[in-house]
Amino acid sequence: MTTPPTRRTFLGAALAGASLPAVHTQEPRTAAKGRPTMVGSANALPGMLEQWERFSGGGDPLDHAIEVVKFQERNEKDSSVGLGGLPGENGIVTLDAAVMHGPTHNSGAVAAIENILHPSEVARLVMERTDHCLIVGRGAYEFARMHGHDHVELLTEKARKAWVAWRERMSTDDDRLPARKKKKDERGGLIYEVDGEKLALEELFGPKRPTGTIHCSALGANGHVACTTTTSGLSWKIPGRVGDSPIIGAGLYCDQEAGSAGATGRGESAILSNGSFAIVELLRKGASPLDAGMEVLGRIARQARRGAKWQPALVDDDGRPAFGVKFYILGLDGQTAGVTLKGKGNYSVATPENGPERKPLTALFPK
Ligand code: ASP
Repeated sequence: MTTPPTRRTFLGAALAGASLPAVHTQEPRTAAKGRPTMVGSANALPGMLEQWERFSGGGDPLDHAIEVVKFQERNEKDSSVGLGGLPGENGIVTLDAAVMHGPTHNSGAVAAIENILHPSEVARLVMERTDHCLIVGRGAYEFARMHGHDHVELLTEKARKAWVAWRERMSTDDDRLPARKKKKDERGGLIYEVDGEKLALEELFGPKRPTGTIHCSALGANGHVACTTTTSGLSWKIPGRVGDSPIIGAGLYCDQEAGSAGATGRGESAILSNGSFAIVELLRKGASPLDAGMEVLGRIARQARRGAKWQPALVDDDGRPAFGVKFYILGLDGQTAGVTLKGKGNYSVATPENGPERKPLTALFPK
């Protein structure tokens, strides 16, 4: 009795016996070897400094990109990632993370995972130990625990107090009362007293809704590319809300034949533009990292204007996006760019010439 061919064996035989039809319009490109490079968000610098020597000495780009972001996952002072990340509107910290590996074009991600310190490592486990791309919520937590990750309380006292202060000042019409002693500091910022501790929200997290994430893309000395993005997401988010960071193509994307990109900032805009994928596709067609980034930011600005028909808050009085989004881009030749929709800011880059350093972002709307 002969065994009927499975889909896999049938396709395997077909591919082995025939050359692929020439549907591509250009030859796949390959990465420069011997030019280790990293690019990422501003908060990636401490991790790059820690990793650079071993990475530039021939380390694997995925291993070291993950180590770069783990620096902030365990840093309780970074209120946008891992431990110390600001919680959702219910006071629970949930994390999103993803990894992507250029040579195998494989990815893994977790979303809305709770109580796990290093979601970037769990994302890698999803890639390497399952047939899936994304595991969410309770399932992601149980998967992490199954692979030996500890249960960790991620809500720090500072983040909890910030959440209480935010919750209590949301509305004068609900049942929650703002802290009794509320006064202005010398700079006019409100001081909240939570559990006896004076807390200047504006001092701690700035006047706007706190945002942040960490991304790192890396090109190894062996010419391999890889990337990772990890975040606690938008502060005070609706429970269950997932941003761009664990979505392949939105918060990160890499392709061994084109390059790598990742995003921080308003996740919804990176999702709606498929921003990281769009940038890598432009790199594939020969655009420089800077041109690719600016092109996609321009699209996001136009998309925001259209979206403002439903959500007027998306644009300011001049019709420009009222939110921020940044991309970090790495070409196969080791060229990098960091771009932002508006204003000033920095990104991190590490090259054989200069090692890890911060560089100014290029803005679509500088003012
Ligand atoms: N991109 C993240 C998210 O939307 C947040 C951020 O980077 O500020 O969840």
